[in-house]
Amino acid sequence: MKLIQPIPQLRRWVLKAQAERRPIGFVPTMGALHEGHLSLIKQARKAVGLRGRVVVSIFVNPTQFNQKSDLKHYPRRLSADIAKCHKAGVDLIFAPSAKAMYPEDFSTWVEETKLSKPLCGASRPGHFRGVCTVVLKLFNLVQPQVAIFGQKDAQQAAVVQRMVRDLNIPVRMIIAPIVREAGGLAMSSRNQRLSPKERESSLSLNRALKLTRASFQKGKRNANVLKKFARQQLRGIPGLRLDYLELVDRHTLQPVVKASAGDLLAVAAFFGKTRLIDNVHL
Ligand code: AMP
Repeated sequence: MKLIQPIPQLRRWVLKAQAERRPIGFVPTMGALHEGHLSLIKQARKAVGLRGRVVVSIFVNPTQFNQKSDLKHYPRRLSADIAKCHKAGVDLIFAPSAKAMYPEDFSTWVEETKLSKPLCGASRPGHFRGVCTVVLKLFNLVQPQVAIFGQKDAQQAAVVQRMVRDLNIPVRMIIAPIVREAGGLAMSSRNQRLSPKERESSLSLNRALKLTRASFQKGKRNANVLKKFARQQLRGIPGLRLDYLELVDRHTLQPVVKASAGDLLAVAAFFGKTRLIDNVHL
């Protein structure tokens, strides 16, 4: 496995893979890797086969953080990540510097203007502009045939899929299911920042989503009733501050009035300073 930081060196590596006609499968991450990321790496290997190349990028993208302190405290674990990628059979880790990705006079941005607006887009202004810009830059650099994203960040997956379609980017997108801890908590690099008490409280998120889905399965269809029920499950949970809980169409991400199978129930909440997200499909 190779670790590359400078962009020119990555370009040479990509040209060689292309000359050898090796398909490239790409998993963009911000590092502090966990089982969720490893599941994406497995899917990438499955997609490109043994002859193909699996590339993982590790880049804590400053432009998608709308709070300086969140960026500052985001976990960085490069040596542990290298060991995990090595074990998982990754061919290349691309870990560029922020300076190389964003030179001082950087002035070009990619903005998706519809799916980016609700949910996380409403509470994190500029977040998806940062995501789209960095993902397009990484696609241009790594030139993958296939890219793997996680359903954990459902809105991000939808926004990037829309960008890929709208801008005719020749990348096949695969969206991988959410990997959870034993108690149901969706794995996230941010989970490392939870205190034991906050971790306990955070289990409420997935519990509330599952109970609400069960209520839908028993026949409840009124979206307001379902959302109210879900919010009730989260009321009184120590240390929890709800950011949003919404029931939206899985394609448009617009709120639904009457719930139907496949709709996306999505939640974001703070536990202390740590913001977690989770979602289920009804
Ligand atoms: P991140 O490093 O948090 O930016 O995530 C990198 C990729 O891993 C994104 O496509 C995420 O959706 C995906 N991912 C993060 N957590 C999980 C998880 N628990 N299960 C599946 N995919 C995940």
